[in-house]
Amino acid sequence: MKLIIASNNSHKVSEIKSILAGKFSEMLSLSDAGICHETIEDGATFLDNALKKAREICSISGIATLADDSGLCVNSLGGAPGVYSARYSGEDATSEKNNTLLLKNLNGKSDRTAYFLCCIALVYPDGREVTAEGRVYGEITSDYRGSHGFGYDPIFQVKDDTRTLAELSDEEKNAISHRGNALKNLLEKI
Ligand code: IMP
Repeated sequence: MKLIIASNNSHKVSEIKSILAGKFSEMLSLSDAGICHETIEDGATFLDNALKKAREICSISGIATLADDSGLCVNSLGGAPGVYSARYSGEDATSEKNNTLLLKNLNGKSDRTAYFLCCIALVYPDGREVTAEGRVYGEITSDYRGSHGFGYDPIFQVKDDTRTLAELSDEEKNAISHRGNALKNLLEKI
């Protein structure tokens, strides 16, 4: 069976392909499949957004589709930035602006614990839906460390480690990441 991975992020697509290897005869990104469609991610939860994306692409293509949605949840901020992680600092958000705002909002807070959450939805043309989630726990630093990864990685120190996600190699990050954990959980269900 063919699978569409509802993303054009090459890093994400290759991580998903390597974890799901052998489960599908062919795995295509949106551009591989010739699909140009942007889902409006206006759901209240990561799961709502992942399901919306997977359902839309599956109905356009008629091919089983996997979609994910993820972000950072900070406990002392009531779970923010959460589903707004990509645009935390506004419409013209960049990772740098998002990180600066997050550090400012945590100024003076003693609880800096946080986690990344990833929800994955796999939707089949016959209407079956399989979902899974994964997390990685840690805390927000007060300085920037490391140059790998993206987004909030330089200010997220992994639980029981002294390093931020940006100080880990891609392989080390994939082995413990929210997305890696969600994919492994999904694999057990399909
Ligand atoms: P997406 O839904 O996986 O594209 O993630 C939405 C936003 O969450 C990104 O734009 C980042 O700000 C943040 N995010 C998700 N995963 C990560 C990660 O692994 N490291 C750092 N930031 C992340």
